[in-house]
Amino acid sequence: MKPRDRLRIAMQKSGRLTEPALDLLNRCGLTFRQSRDKLFCFGEGEPVDLLLVRDDDIPGLIAQGVCDLGIVGRNVLNEFRGVNGDADAALTEWRPLGFGRCRLSIAVPQEMDYSKPGDLNGLRIATSYPGLVNDWLRAEGVNAAVITLAGSVEIAPKLGTADAICDLVQSGGTLVANQLRETDVLLQSEAVLAGPTALPTDERGDMIELLLKRLDGVIQVRESRLLLLQTSRTSLDAVTRLLPGGPQPTLLPVAGQPDQLMLQALCAGEVSWRQLEEIKKAGAREMFVLPVEKMLA
Ligand code: ATP
Ligand code: ZN
Repeated sequence: MKPRDRLRIAMQKSGRLTEPALDLLNRCGLTFRQSRDKLFCFGEGEPVDLLLVRDDDIPGLIAQGVCDLGIVGRNVLNEFRGVNGDADAALTEWRPLGFGRCRLSIAVPQEMDYSKPGDLNGLRIATSYPGLVNDWLRAEGVNAAVITLAGSVEIAPKLGTADAICDLVQSGGTLVANQLRETDVLLQSEAVLAGPTALPTDERGDMIELLLKRLDGVIQVRESRLLLLQTSRTSLDAVTRLLPGGPQPTLLPVAGQPDQLMLQALCAGEVSWRQLEEIKKAGAREMFVLPVEKMLA
């Protein structure tokens, strides 16, 4: 392979991962010139180009060295790693990216008697993930036939071509619409940044390290929330104890109310309604949860 001095990232050309992946790269300061119906997009500011392909091709392109990194579902990456054995075990999940969340699950017809994986013995399971399903069957000690389908897996039981399926599930709506019931989760998936375990030793390696650092910053800010509330000095301890993790909160006086304090805390993740209600019960009021756009410590 001819040495390259520009980094090349593969991502899905058009599908569920396309917009969020592009948005993430933009937030990392990467912008691209070509229109998106082309296969190749030239990176403007940084020496990083994009290759737009089918998601299934991404692990192979990285393994062959055609691309240095890829944004792809963990389901696709792990299926590739399993099926291609040791030679391609050198692919690593560099970062989970927090979008494209779904799970790979077994589902059976609603009326089927199913309580444990052993109930699949002797049955046919339709899936687009034969490697992952076979691994799971082996681990569970189940002897079932795996039927590989490229798509429309969920209608296989109705068509009589399979007894059960293993497919990606997000809300579960597709399963319900096809009178199927989810029974076992094989894999929790999301989009990941995939790449070779051994980074290139030239400038591309430096660029990957820079990109990983930016990515960490972007992901941290995306998940951060600023919590603002008012509390009396007497409730302060009880309120502080309930705050979701993060650095020490900042306390500010409230004009004209010497027994009141304004509290400001940076939280590492979502703050749920339930958490807010608990904090309120402890004596807080006037609570706000705000997204953080940029952060420079
Ligand atoms: P391509 O043309 O690139 O092969 P595709 O049809 O295989 O497209 P999409 O349906 O766009 O791919 O899904 C891409 C990825 O999105 C999946 O591999 C998976 O990681 C993730 N995903 C999240 N939720 C779902 C879901 N409900 N169904 C399928 N994939 C999902
Ligand atoms: Zn695909």
